[in-house]
Amino acid sequence: MPKILVTGGCGYIGSHTIVDLIETGFEVISLDNLINSDESVLDGIFQITGKKILNFAVDLADREMLIPVFEQNSDIVGIIHFAALKSVNESVHRPLQYYSNNITGLINLLDLSERYSIKNFIFSSSCSVYGDSDELPVTELTPLKEAQCPYAYTKQAGERIIQDVTRVRDNFSSILLRYFNPAGAHHSALIGESSRNIASNLVPVITETAIGKRQSMTIFGSDYETRDGTCVRDYIHVMDIARAHTLALRYLLDQTEKQNESVVFNLGTGEGITVKEAIDAFEQVNGIKLNYTYGQRREGDVVAVYANNKKAQEILNWIPSRDINEIMRSAWEWEKVRSTIH
Ligand code: UDP
Repeated sequence: MPKILVTGGCGYIGSHTIVDLIETGFEVISLDNLINSDESVLDGIFQITGKKILNFAVDLADREMLIPVFEQNSDIVGIIHFAALKSVNESVHRPLQYYSNNITGLINLLDLSERYSIKNFIFSSSCSVYGDSDELPVTELTPLKEAQCPYAYTKQAGERIIQDVTRVRDNFSSILLRYFNPAGAHHSALIGESSRNIASNLVPVITETAIGKRQSMTIFGSDYETRDGTCVRDYIHVMDIARAHTLALRYLLDQTEKQNESVVFNLGTGEGITVKEAIDAFEQVNGIKLNYTYGQRREGDVVAVYANNKKAQEILNWIPSRDINEIMRSAWEWEKVRSTIH
């Protein structure tokens, strides 16, 4: 079984991807410093797959501490790099923390992948690299505009660093996956989104409001130029995102000749949904009324972004199969379980 190193394996997308990797026949080790996650997610993975995943609780910024992980696992054939800070709003207020964490971690990992001859690399990028795009939906060829926040800039810079390395390193290939808005949870409700930090993404804010952890929630901005005045995003189920990683890995491993070029894929459904429509879907699917008000625009937000996902469909054979209703249903199931255990 090919061994894959997943950084951020205890995090939200990392843990769901590990499930899909195991079910496809990969062996996985995780590297996660747990600053925004918890190793208890590994119990959930065990209950779903029957496999115990080993996590190395090491910080990617600490190069010396990383070396033993690679020494002990000389058979790693690929790296999927999720570990990063990810809050748009927090990044506006703590730029240095974002630059230092997201960029240093990536550089160390790329450096060690060369030293230990690991040839396949997949990077968690984000649709935030497109900035306030002039064209919608965005394709992988849509020009990147100015990053709207430090988080987005770490993703633009990360992509560029990987492209530059891929161009000059023999026998190395990489894929850049631009996630739109991952949401929802595994259908078992044994794993889901459970950051240590206070939730700032829309779907967990919705479920936390519904369960009463928050008295009410705010829709950030009601005067955008969209069909109902609220921002448009492309919400994509986390298990569809997970599957894309497995397919991307297969694509890299099946290459007979390395390309010296990073391949970029958009991972979204192709459908733009407003904040208001997302809330309506939650209310309807789960039969719950949410307590919300309209407030100011949030700093760093783009008006609208959704994906053209044809490239991933054609090259990776990736067909996302879950819609906003399934996202809201599974996210709510997970919230109910999570609230009883945490
Ligand atoms: N949003 C909101 N209220 C919240 C959290 C998010 O209105 O409490 C909006 C946010 O302004 C954006 C959309 O929901 O328009 C998605 O935000 P999220 O943080 O989930 O993802 P982003 O697209 O910013 O990465």
